[in-house]
Amino acid sequence: MRLNGKTALITGSTSGIGLGIAQALARAGANIVLNGFGDVEAARRAVESTGAHAIHLPADMRRADEIEHMFDVARERFGGVDILVNNAGIQHVAPIESFPAQQWDDIIAINLTSAFHTTRHALAGMRERNWGRIVNIASVHGLVGSAGKSAYVAAKHGLVGLTKVTALETATTGVTCNAICPGFVLTPLVQKQIDDLALREGLSADDARTRLLGEKQPSGQFVTPEMLGSIALMLCSPMAAEVRGATWAADGGWTAQ
Ligand code: NAD
Repeated sequence: MRLNGKTALITGSTSGIGLGIAQALARAGANIVLNGFGDVEAARRAVESTGAHAIHLPADMRRADEIEHMFDVARERFGGVDILVNNAGIQHVAPIESFPAQQWDDIIAINLTSAFHTTRHALAGMRERNWGRIVNIASVHGLVGSAGKSAYVAAKHGLVGLTKVTALETATTGVTCNAICPGFVLTPLVQKQIDDLALREGLSADDARTRLLGEKQPSGQFVTPEMLGSIALMLCSPMAAEVRGATWAADGGWTAQ
């Protein structure tokens, strides 16, 4: 599968799943627009080591104006965005009664509303070229709930809904939109949950990891960013041209229960 000449913009791609997907698309020959915070240079080096062209744009996914500017710059640099991966996301775990309102607003903004803004900016060019792929990184929590994760579960169910509507509005075109729904992947987002569990229950890091997986993921194994990169690549392939509005679980059996 070659994506030479295509440009992929992956939100939240300086780390974890987003970086894994950026590397997979880069290896297939796409130009890459990275986004996110933290060690930007390491992410850029990881992508450029594949031989791909990469730029990093630091838009905050809570800001509609910064998202619009990111698309302007991406279009100037590469001529358009052919593949959009809505991946940026954060997590906060607390019961509803004590869930901080600011955390709720940030999770809805980054995990859900940003995908509305990126999608509306990407669609015009995709329709013009009659080719596009929108891949939304939802979660098992777009399909089922877990206590303590109200904002995250609400945002991810919303993202699955947005995926279906985007797929319907583009159904007669060469643009597709689908969601990937991962179970636990060992990234900084999940490491924090392991650390919190270890502290709360007085467990070793290994025991906390096993407990977290054991509660939800029947395989007892983490999903990896590389696996998710391969699924994203498959959704970009001609084979997936009529895969529209799907939710592809990669969750070690979590939602099969
Ligand atoms: P991560 O913490 O490793 O990466 C998150 C990325 O989002 C980083 O690049 C970070 O800089 C970026 N980001 C955070 N806030 C941002 C903002 N305001 N603007 C722009 N970028 C911002 O986390 P991850 O586990 O790789 O998560 C990536 C996506 O996958 C998220 O949407 C998450 O909900 C989803 N997901 C993760 C898991 C898991 O187990 N790790 C499971 C299912 C779904």
